[in-house]
Amino acid sequence: MGTYKRILLAVDLTEESTRVASRAVTIARCFDAELHVVHVIEPLSLAYGGDIPMDLSSVQEQIHEQAKSHLAEFGASINVPAARQYLIFGRPESEIHRLAEEQKVDVIVVGSHGRHGLALLLGSTANGVLHGAMCDVLAVRVGSDVKE
Ligand code: AMP
Repeated sequence: MGTYKRILLAVDLTEESTRVASRAVTIARCFDAELHVVHVIEPLSLAYGGDIPMDLSSVQEQIHEQAKSHLAEFGASINVPAARQYLIFGRPESEIHRLAEEQKVDVIVVGSHGRHGLALLLGSTANGVLHGAMCDVLAVRVGSDVKE
């Protein structure tokens, strides 16, 4: 059986990231694998298109600075060195795929809310990562209806 040597943990830096990370850390220990962590900042222009008639660059800069320190703190808490922490601008799904291929990871670990109904139809980051990934994807259940 093949083993995992490089694991990519994708975090949205919400409280739920801790639960997702703990699974990734456990798998990394089991396989003595290298753990990498990524957070993608979605540009405000992508999220809101041209709908807001104002210069968003200073807001974007603030978001970037906050995410940078939050990711550094989060990475340190799970013993992932700075060289294996990635803060990237773009669409989460495509940037996670791109990084996974660039770093030749064997498995991507994401959180999954197990959505229903319309939310399911609209899709989620976990779905987006699963479809089109060249490696394994582990979806860790998160959200209020998770059994501990
Ligand atoms: P969502 O489908 O957006 O609720 O997110 C589910 C999971 O996708 C999160 O637990 C993360 O693993 C991943 N994810 C969502 N947004 C991001 C992001 N901006 N950067 C990295 N991973 C993300």
